[in-house]
Amino acid sequence: MRKFDLFWAAMVVGAAGIARGTDWIVDPSGYKAKVEAGEEAIVLDNGLIRREIMLNPDAVTTSLKCVATGEEYVRGISNEATVTIDGTEYPVGGVVNGQPVYNYILPEWCGNFSVTSNAYRYAGFEENAVKARFEWKRRREWSSRELDWPPKGRELTLSFVPPTNTLPKVEVHYEIYDGAPIIAKWLVVRNDTEREIVVDTFKSECLRLTDTHANNDLVYVERPNDLWVMPELFFQEASNKPIYNRGMRYVLDEEYKTQVEYYCKSFNRLEVGPDRAFAKYLKPGESYETYRVWETAMDSTDRERVGLTMRRFWRMMAPWTDENPLFFHLRASKVDLVKAGIDQAQEAGFEAVLMSFHSGFNLESRDGEYRAKYAELSNEAKRKGLVLGGYTLTSSRSAKPKSDNVEGECRFGKGPCLGAEWGVEYFQTLKDFMREADFGIFENDGPYPGDVCSSTNHPYHHGDADSFRVQWEAQRDLYRFCVARGIHVNQPDSYYLNGGNKNGMGYKERVWSQPRDYQVLIERQNIYDGTWAKTSSMGWMFVPLTEYHGGGKAAIVEPLAEHLDHYEQRFADTLGAGVQAVWRGPRLYDTEETLAMVRKWTKFYKEHRRVLTGDFIHLRRADGRDWDGWMMTDAMNPVDEKAIAFVFNPLTTPIRRTISLPLKYTGLAGTVGVKTDDGETRMVESVNGKLAVEVEVPAKKWVRIHLYGGRTQK
Ligand SMILES: [Zn+2]
Repeated sequence: MRKFDLFWAAMVVGAAGIARGTDWIVDPSGYKAKVEAGEEAIVLDNGLIRREIMLNPDAVTTSLKCVATGEEYVRGISNEATVTIDGTEYPVGGVVNGQPVYNYILPEWCGNFSVTSNAYRYAGFEENAVKARFEWKRRREWSSRELDWPPKGRELTLSFVPPTNTLPKVEVHYEIYDGAPIIAKWLVVRNDTEREIVVDTFKSECLRLTDTHANNDLVYVERPNDLWVMPELFFQEASNKPIYNRGMRYVLDEEYKTQVEYYCKSFNRLEVGPDRAFAKYLKPGESYETYRVWETAMDSTDRERVGLTMRRFWRMMAPWTDENPLFFHLRASKVDLVKAGIDQAQEAGFEAVLMSFHSGFNLESRDGEYRAKYAELSNEAKRKGLVLGGYTLTSSRSAKPKSDNVEGECRFGKGPCLGAEWGVEYFQTLKDFMREADFGIFENDGPYPGDVCSSTNHPYHHGDADSFRVQWEAQRDLYRFCVARGIHVNQPDSYYLNGGNKNGMGYKERVWSQPRDYQVLIERQNIYDGTWAKTSSMGWMFVPLTEYHGGGKAAIVEPLAEHLDHYEQRFADTLGAGVQAVWRGPRLYDTEETLAMVRKWTKFYKEHRRVLTGDFIHLRRADGRDWDGWMMTDAMNPVDEKAIAFVFNPLTTPIRRTISLPLKYTGLAGTVGVKTDDGETRMVESVNGKLAVEVEVPAKKWVRIHLYGGRTQK
C-alpha cells in the first residue's frame, strides 16, 4: 500500500466503536482516547477530535479535525515544532513542502515531500497513560464532583534526534483525553551533550490553519470559535479579555499565495511559543519542559454550547477550580476579632475566613511569634470546620530595596522582580507562613502580569534573556505549591491551569459604590456575562457589607438587620448561580433574624452544591424591565435533581410569566418533575426539548424552579 493510501484510509474511517449519537456534553462516557500507530502515520482519536501525524519522510501533522462536524483545520504541512538553541532555529520534524497550493492538502501530495537538511528527525514514539502535571490535594468539602486528576487519556511522545550530536534531544508530547474534543501539546528538550546550552525559545505548535476568518486585517484576531487554542502561558488580569498572544499567536503565511485576502495578509498560521525572550539555560544532563497548549475542537457556533465546551475544558484541565468554598472577607486581623469572625462564619455556615486587604494582617511577616499567633487561629478555624488565610499584594507595589523591582516597562507602574533577591524571598516567606500556619485560603492581589526585567544585577535571571520565563515560573510554582496543599487561590488573573481558583467576575469598585438597588441588577448582569467561558466557581463577585470606595450609607448592606431583604437578595443572586462573593466587612450577621437568613442560604447552597455549581444555562439577561434568570444544571448528578432555575423579578409589581426551560443539557426529556420553591412536585410534559413552567414572582423577589428526572435521556 502506498503511504498516502494509508494516510487517506485513516482519515476517512474515523473512530470505530464510538457511541455516536450521544451528546458528549451530557454523557461523555462513550468517547475513549486512542493512539493508533501505523508504519506511515500515528493517529490520536477519541471520536470527538482527531489528529493525524505522518511519519515519512518525517513526523508532521497532516490533519486536525472536529469529528462531529467533520471540519478539517489543517490546510498545509508545516514543521511540527521548532527549537532555537544557542541562537539558531531548528525545525523539529521538518519537511520541504511539495504542496501546489496551501488552501487545502490532499494525501497524494504528501508523497512529494522531502526532508529539511537541518531538521530534528523523527526517531520513534512511546504511548502512556496521561500523568498528573503536578500534585493536587483535593478539598472534597468544597466540591461535590469527583473530577479526575489526572484527566483520563493517552499521552503520545515522539522522539527526535538532532542534526548534529552537539545538540540536545527533543521530544514532542501530545495528550488526548477521554470524553472531550481536546488535545494537548508541549516539548521536552534533554541536554545529553557535554556542554551547557541555551534554549532561547521554541514553537511547540506551527499549524497552517484553514483561513475561515481570512478577511480580517487586524494584527491579532481571535479565530471564530471553531478551534479554541489555550496556552498555559497567558494573562488576563481582572478582565474578560484574555491576553493570549503572550503565549500564542496567528501569523502571516508568506507561502500561501492563493489565499483570498488580496495582499496575502491574513493571519492564518498558528504559532504557540512565547512572544519574547524566554531562554532556558541547560547544563549537561538537565532537561526543560515547555509550557503546554490545549486545542479544543468546537462542534457548534452556538454560544451556549461553545461555552459549555470551554467550561468542560476547565473542569478537566483545572479541576481544582470546581472547589468553591463559602468565604468571608474579614476586615480585621486582631486576635479577638478574628476569633469572632471565625465564630460568625461557623454559625452562618461559611467554610473559610480570609483576612482581607486593609485588615492589618501581614502575610509577609517572618516574626515567629506573629506567625504562631495566626497558626493558633488557623487551628481554631480548623476545629470549627473552616480554614483561615490571608491576603498579599504582589503587583503595583515596590520591593525593598527598589533596585529589586522590575527594570523596564511595568504593567502596573511598578512591581518586584521575581528573579531578584527580594522577590524570591518574598514568595518563600508567603510559602513558609502558609505552611507554618496551615492556611487554607490565599488571596494574591495582582500576580505576575508578564513584565520583562532587563536588570543584569538580579541573581536569578540573565537580564532580559530569561526574566519573562523565570518570573512566570516563579508565580506558577507558588500556585502549584498552593494546589498541592489544598490552599484555595483568589487572584485577579488567569493562572487557573497552574492552581489558581478564582478571578474577578464583576470586580469594579465603582459598581460597589452605587445605591443598593443598582448593585443588584449589575450583579446579575456580571454573573450572566461572566459564566459563558468559565464556570461559576472560577469567578468571584463582591458584596460591600461596609463602605468600599465610596457611595456612603446608600451603597452598603450594614446595618445588616435593617437591610435584610437586600442582604438576602445578594445571597439569592450569587449562590443561586453557584457564585461566591467577597462578603467584605466586620461581621456576617448582627441579629438572630439575620443569622437565620444567612444560614438558610448557606444550607441551601450546600444541599444543592452540585447542581448550583453545575453548568450555567443563560435564560434572560437582567435589564430591569422584565424578569431575568438562569438555570444551573448537572446532567451527571447521580441524584434525581438535575437543574435549578432562578427567575428574578426586578419590578415593583408582581409578575406572572411562562418560562421556557431548555432541557438539552440537563439530561432530562419527556415528563419532568417540577417543584417551585417549597411547593409540591408536579409532572410537566416537555415539548421539543423545552419545558414551559408558569411562575408568579412577587415584586423585587425571585422564584426557584427545581427539575427532577422523569425519564432520563439516553
Ligand atoms: Zn529582574
